[in-house]
Amino acid sequence: MSIEVSNLTKKYGDFYALDDVNVSLPTGQLTALLGPSGGGKSTLLRIIAGLDTADHGNVSIEGVDATKLPPQKRNVGFVFQHYAVFKHMTVAKNVAFGLEIRKTPKAEVKRRVGELLELVHLSQFADRMPSQLSGGQRQRMALARALAVEPTVLLLDEPFGALDAKVRKELRDWLRRLHDEVHVTTVFVTHDQEEAMEVADEIVVINQGRVEQVGSPDQLYDEPANDFVMGFLGEVTRLGPVRLRPHDVEVAVTPGHAGAFPGTVTRALRVGFEVRLQVELDPEFGSSDPVSVVLSRSHARSLDIELGSKVWLTAAIGAVTVPAMVAV
Ligand code: ADP
Ligand code: MG
Repeated sequence: MSIEVSNLTKKYGDFYALDDVNVSLPTGQLTALLGPSGGGKSTLLRIIAGLDTADHGNVSIEGVDATKLPPQKRNVGFVFQHYAVFKHMTVAKNVAFGLEIRKTPKAEVKRRVGELLELVHLSQFADRMPSQLSGGQRQRMALARALAVEPTVLLLDEPFGALDAKVRKELRDWLRRLHDEVHVTTVFVTHDQEEAMEVADEIVVINQGRVEQVGSPDQLYDEPANDFVMGFLGEVTRLGPVRLRPHDVEVAVTPGHAGAFPGTVTRALRVGFEVRLQVELDPEFGSSDPVSVVLSRSHARSLDIELGSKVWLTAAIGAVTVPAMVAV
């Protein structure tokens, strides 16, 4: 394990930003710290980087107890949402900076910078100033700069958070490919579940200063440990005593199934190849909100479903369900 975090606690006054966090982040993998804003992700990352200290607990990096090491002794590289670039230096100089302060020989610096700019696809921009780059290009430069000193661990705190949706998506594909090339142990903070699911080998879900679950994207999606993880990783709806994903609700147009919930389609919306339904359950079942259902368009067509249709709902066989919390 590359990074071992044990019993980490961080308080601000009486408030626990991290509450006894234990987690192992594997060597060579890309791990996402995922959770809602204010959950403690950045606090954890800053403590791993050595930019902040914990009240209690330990951090070890590649078998070395790093708890008391200053950031520059931890051999970590980091990139934040708003990266502090050197505005008066060219792109190449920005990337070279860390190597130059380490007194790396000139020829070696030149070679490394060339390699890195190629890696992040910025070779043709080497002599530009950062202000002449797009937001996405600037973050790629920041990554090249962080990688220049060959860190053991790369820490990224919402590195694409300030960019628009399309660029974010491109950069996340690019980051995945970059990671497959360089294999540096990477910890990536995001509050965006889709981003985490697409990019990460492993996801650590953090909420209110605690780890809710650790697992691969598929594990979290298919076997959420609790209601929070289930709701955070995808859309959830309630059907009687359980909560489940809208695409896991089975729809019938006859009352065949004994335990089925009868209701009426009150909304039907076509979105691309999907049809999204809202079903109001019959009054004896219908104290809760309408049930959301997602069907493929061809399935909806074969059932001949439209607004006002009478339907019977069940949880599909193999559906992931968690008990619905009882309203009080
Ligand atoms: P995240 O990155 O998951 O959005 P943070 O780790 O930044 O969350 O913050 C976790 C909690 O700790 C938040 O409630 C935040 O307000 C609080 N917090 C973070 N830094 C400080 C600080 N320097 N002083 C007081 N509270 C802080
Ligand atoms: Mg944060």
